[in-house]
Amino acid sequence: MNIFRAMKPDLVVSSVKSIDFQALKARGISVVLLDFDNTLGPDHATEPTDYSRECVSTLDALGFEMCLVSNAKSGRSSNIAAMLGIPCITYAHKPNPSGVYRALDMMKAKPEQACMIGDQVFTDVIAGRLSGCYTILVERYSRKEIWYVKAKRPFERIVRFFARF
Ligand SMILES: [Mg+2]
Repeated sequence: MNIFRAMKPDLVVSSVKSIDFQALKARGISVVLLDFDNTLGPDHATEPTDYSRECVSTLDALGFEMCLVSNAKSGRSSNIAAMLGIPCITYAHKPNPSGVYRALDMMKAKPEQACMIGDQVFTDVIAGRLSGCYTILVERYSRKEIWYVKAKRPFERIVRFFARF
């Protein structure tokens, strides 16, 4: 089932905080591309939470460069990024890798120097895989999410079952 394997992330973890960032460094990764909704904070939040800030300061202390890569079509994600003090790509069009490429361009990084972290297989993981970045799936921050994301979860479970992740 190649189609399912193509959607398999390199790593699955429970949360951003539980990622072994030293191990990422050892792989030569210096740039972390982050989804926001249900990855770094609650779905459709208008501002970062303490959790978001903690993740960013941990990564910053470890010397990683960061960029939000968000599909949000409003100023919401760029406002959040500004509050977190990191750059942002909006209208990223994930699963299309174009937004990830824009982020890599901006960060002057090659795909092998970056990892994409997100909570959705059909957007974050596919975009990460297609762009050639190391790709990490996190379990969603909260079960509360907008209907069109919720609607995709049963299909995600099918993919995860067949691709075993
Ligand atoms: Mg998300």
